[in-house]
Amino acid sequence: MIELRNVVKKYGHNTVLKDVSMQVHDGEVVVIIGPSGSGKSTLLRQMNLLEQPTSGEVLVDGRVVSGKLKSEVTRKTHEKIGMVFQKFNLFPHYTVLENIIHAPQVVKHQSKTQATEEAMTLLNQIGLTEKRNSYPASLSGGQQQRIAIVRALAMHPDVLLFDEPTSALDPEMVEEVLKVMKNLARSGMTMVVVTHEMGFAKQVGDRVLFVNDGQILEEGTPREIFEHAKHERTRDFISKILYT
Ligand code: ADP
Ligand code: MG
Repeated sequence: MIELRNVVKKYGHNTVLKDVSMQVHDGEVVVIIGPSGSGKSTLLRQMNLLEQPTSGEVLVDGRVVSGKLKSEVTRKTHEKIGMVFQKFNLFPHYTVLENIIHAPQVVKHQSKTQATEEAMTLLNQIGLTEKRNSYPASLSGGQQQRIAIVRALAMHPDVLLFDEPTSALDPEMVEEVLKVMKNLARSGMTMVVVTHEMGFAKQVGDRVLFVNDGQILEEGTPREIFEHAKHERTRDFISKILYT
């Protein structure tokens, strides 16, 4: 579904991704772990075309979507790939409902009635219908992040990318967000998740990639990576996330 071929990303003289190749298959949940500054967010930004690779290619459904392309192709690709950020990024001046129905109306040309109907169904699934007219600032972090996930889902993406979705949350709110993500994973959604939540990775992750210094140093099943990592560097990193 998504493929990176020999992707290199430089910011000035700083090479942040060093020849990364990877694939995300339909229905798969790929978990990305790795130290801060290793290039995880940059990697996600290549997948949803927020940025162009310095060299190499990004393919979605077998078609090259990086490089100079018609804006139509870029727009279609953006629609297919949703993203959830660490800091929620809800529109502060929109209510919960407005946050969810905005893009479906503007980008997908859904009627307000249809967009609202779908939004209410999604809000019901996460138990937040009564918050539809609230503004983001009046919600807890966990509620805001669940709304952000629903907002992404309202666009019917083929893939959802998550960039450390629980790391800005108070500990007691992590579980409610992970629960929504686990349900999504079990429903067959294709997901790429940067997270150090090992429970999540073990329960629903198909594959774990360990990113270190701009490269995928090692990949395998959650068990292979968390319990039998080949590289000393991987084992060292995992022992740190276990005991902090
Ligand atoms: P991670 O998400 O693993 O913490 P990032 O992908 O955010 O890592 O960053 C990897 C490296 O790229 C860091 O050294 C960071 O400073 C640098 N970097 C990230 N984004 C930019 C940018 N827009 N401009 C310049 N340097 C950047
Ligand atoms: Mg990051």
